[in-house]
Amino acid sequence: MGTVKKIAVLPGDGIGPEIMEEALKVLRKVEDLFGHSFQFTFGMAGGGAVDRVGNPLPEETLSLCKQSDAVLLAAVGGPKWDNNPPELRPEQALLGLRKSLNLYANLRPAVLFEGLENASTLKPEVVKGVDLLVVRELTGGIYFGEKKRERLEDGQQATDTLVYHEREVERIVRRAFEIARGRRKKLTSVDKANILESSRLWRSVVDRVARDYPDVQVEHVLVDNCAMQLIRRPADFDVIVTENMFGDILSDETAMLTGSIGLLPSASLGEGMTGLYEPVHGSAPDIAGQGVANPAAMILSAAMMLRHSFGYEEAATAVEQAVRKVLADGHRTADLAGPGTLAVGTEEFGDLVVEAMNAYEPDPKVPLEVVM
Ligand code: NAD
Repeated sequence: MGTVKKIAVLPGDGIGPEIMEEALKVLRKVEDLFGHSFQFTFGMAGGGAVDRVGNPLPEETLSLCKQSDAVLLAAVGGPKWDNNPPELRPEQALLGLRKSLNLYANLRPAVLFEGLENASTLKPEVVKGVDLLVVRELTGGIYFGEKKRERLEDGQQATDTLVYHEREVERIVRRAFEIARGRRKKLTSVDKANILESSRLWRSVVDRVARDYPDVQVEHVLVDNCAMQLIRRPADFDVIVTENMFGDILSDETAMLTGSIGLLPSASLGEGMTGLYEPVHGSAPDIAGQGVANPAAMILSAAMMLRHSFGYEEAATAVEQAVRKVLADGHRTADLAGPGTLAVGTEEFGDLVVEAMNAYEPDPKVPLEVVM
């Protein structure tokens, strides 16, 4: 048995505790099947933490996260706290965690699961085979540059500054190459190098780093073209790496290629193996407490944690294959069930995933543990 991995568990608000329970169930199954060992420590974050201790990200939670090998977060927020002052808003927990853990790489996969070809707004033949990953730079660029508002004689003028140091570009680009190497070995770097100086720097760093990864095929695509190609031929993409604002927009576009928000996981990575793993969706207050939420995005986020923070590639694949199988067998939570289809609840979906994991057969092509 390897070392015990310490996981900070932040269930948060709304459907958070319900979907987190299912992810933990799946991780306990991973312990049984693969001999890994996890130590789960629960922490308060979000609206619940505001109510209990008057702070969306209590110091205790922050130090728990810093001392852990990875953080699993379900979702925070809800109408109860919508009118709170900014420092008492649940979302502050997310911003605080990203900043304190220096999470500079945001990973958002988009995969079309068998049986859900009709859930997308695009034609089934266009989305067939989609399996891509957007790697977005998260802590630099125009969102963090100097901002200014001036009053001129003829009206106001606003300025946002876009700054990237090559160090910041290199660390995210290297990460993307490493990830591409573990997938289909194709990397698309997205920029606006025909206009922006920061993009020209970005492109030169990509070309330099590419020399260390001769096995990965690299292409440069302008962001406007990429937005079009994602709708026209999404299945051709493997890993997309891009700067903060382009990534913000493109990752929302890719999220919608495959249908339900209840299926989309994400990872935010810092230096070394640190990472925060959470579904793309929010706390869904409209269905909280009813046992009907789709836990797939949370379970798939846990699979990303196994892969990216612990290097447990085989266990990650087993979890992903189990979710795939449950969906391929026709089981649907309410968000995916069409009219007249009998939906399974949150807990039942989790049980089905655990059951499907018993039938996991290792793919001989997948290395046992890939440590990045
Ligand atoms: P939301 O993602 O919570 O919900 C949007 C719609 O999708 C709702 O109809 C909801 O029922 C449905 N949905 C979401 N997740 C689902 C799941 N797993 N299974 C089935 N259906 C699901 O977005 P919202 O309603 O705009 O936001 C609700 C709260 O969540 C707000 O307070 C918002 O600030 C917060 N939020 C938090 C995060 C986060 O924690 N990372 C992200 C987005 C929104």
